[in-house]
Amino acid sequence: MPHYDLVIVGTGSGNSILGPGFAGKKTAIVEKGTFGGTCLNVGCIPTKMFVYAADVAYTPSHSAKYGVDEELKNVRWRDIRDRIFGRIDPIAEGGAEYRRSHEDNANVDVYEGTGRFTGHKELRVSFTDGRPGEVLTADKFVLAAGGRPVIPEIPGLDDVGYHTSDTVMRLDELPERIVILGGGYIAAEFAHVFASFGVHVTLVNRSGRLLRSEDEDVSARFTELAAERFDVRLDRKTVRARKTDNGVALDLEGPQGAETVEGDVLLIATGRRPNSDLLDVAATGVTTMDSGHVVVDDYQQTAVEGIYALGDLSSPHELKHVANHEARVVQHNLLHPDERITADHRFVPHAVFTHPQVASVGLTEQKARELGVSYVVSKQDYAGIAYGWAMEDTTGFAKLLADPATGQLLGAHIIGPQASSVIQPLIQAMSFGLDARAMARGQYWIHPAMPELVENALLNLPLD
Ligand SMILES: Cc1cc2nc3c(=O)[nH]c(=O)nc-3n(C[C@H](O)[C@H](O)[C@H](O)COP(=O)(O)OP(=O)(O)OC[C@H]3O[C@@H](n4cnc5c(N)ncnc54)[C@H](O)[C@@H]3O)c2cc1C
Repeated sequence: MPHYDLVIVGTGSGNSILGPGFAGKKTAIVEKGTFGGTCLNVGCIPTKMFVYAADVAYTPSHSAKYGVDEELKNVRWRDIRDRIFGRIDPIAEGGAEYRRSHEDNANVDVYEGTGRFTGHKELRVSFTDGRPGEVLTADKFVLAAGGRPVIPEIPGLDDVGYHTSDTVMRLDELPERIVILGGGYIAAEFAHVFASFGVHVTLVNRSGRLLRSEDEDVSARFTELAAERFDVRLDRKTVRARKTDNGVALDLEGPQGAETVEGDVLLIATGRRPNSDLLDVAATGVTTMDSGHVVVDDYQQTAVEGIYALGDLSSPHELKHVANHEARVVQHNLLHPDERITADHRFVPHAVFTHPQVASVGLTEQKARELGVSYVVSKQDYAGIAYGWAMEDTTGFAKLLADPATGQLLGAHIIGPQASSVIQPLIQAMSFGLDARAMARGQYWIHPAMPELVENALLNLPLD
């Protein structure tokens, strides 16, 4: 039974931990799937590469308002797909090869298989290539095993054949019609991608709003805009999935009674869950929340001394920048056990790369109400800034929440062009405690650029 100083499970953000600082240690890394994890292979990076192509494809449909008549001639799906994975797949393979055979990794053993705890700090690895399994023990573990799509229990679903975000980007042919089950960010991003490429998109959602964890005004605006572009079915329960001659049908129950939607392809995007169950973390004494997320303290250590966890396995944020931050914290704490640092989860931003883009940080208005904190709100439309006139934008806005007494920002929410970039100065202000007045007037804002949206939203805050 090989014994290690350190074993890491998962090669997403977990892979970034090993470096020169561990040169004198006997280490191992265990990976059951493709090296590089979700973000690189089936998450952030390929989706955003598809979204970029989708944005380009979508442009002709609304260029006439600028006096420019354009037509979308054709979408070469296979070329789009192959460009994206032609870049990503070699990076994943290169990363695996680097760990397997580069001299920098002479102290690293790579186990290509599935790890499952069988006892205290004892991990059994079942090899992907069918070799007999092996049990590893270690002084320290890092659990970075991420999560996976949740498949809802719908009668007939297993018989019809469906895709998740893990598989839909590798389709051989662009379907004519796609049904997307779900109303969160993955559903919203793929709806934009497929609709931009000319696919008829039906979005089926259980609740009455799309992107419902966003600020209520943002979610309402997005739901309204989505309904103009996709066939959106809200407040629907999916009672059955059926195979049809051309694909799949979902029988739904909703406010208008029973109805059926059909598509050539079905994409399930109803959420994700952590892989703590498959790893059987309980067998080593690691505890989990009801959601399945591994419980960690501020140092990212689990209930077991010397076992750390990070990323989607333990963080309800389920974002790559959070997983990377936590990996840096874990790396530091492993290398400097007497000077450990804590993770900073105060102001975690996120973006939804759909159309229009959505970005957010801090409290939503509904959360601020629920917490009973004192706040004021301001809004600024893209339509009210010069760059918004240039873009002829009539639907985007920024919404800020701030403490009326101190001017400290409590939350920022943007829906509109480049929201994911435009929000960054607000994240910076919140992270460094810059108040709204000082932020608005203590610097120049390039005219007539998009950040004037932020400047005006700050000036609109009715502070004491
Ligand atoms: C479609 C999609 C789009 C996304 N877009 C964004 C975005 O735009 N921005 C953003 O910030 N985040 C995005 N995310 C989320 C982001 O991908 C994750 O937050 C991030 O990848 C989590 O990293 P991780 O290291 O925690 O886990 P992962 O990257 O999932 O790595 C976990 C690894 O562990 C392996 N593993 C699991 N169980 C075992 C086991 N028992 N034994 C051995 N190996 C195991 C897995 O195979 C995997 O390689 C997206 C996710 C999806 C699905």
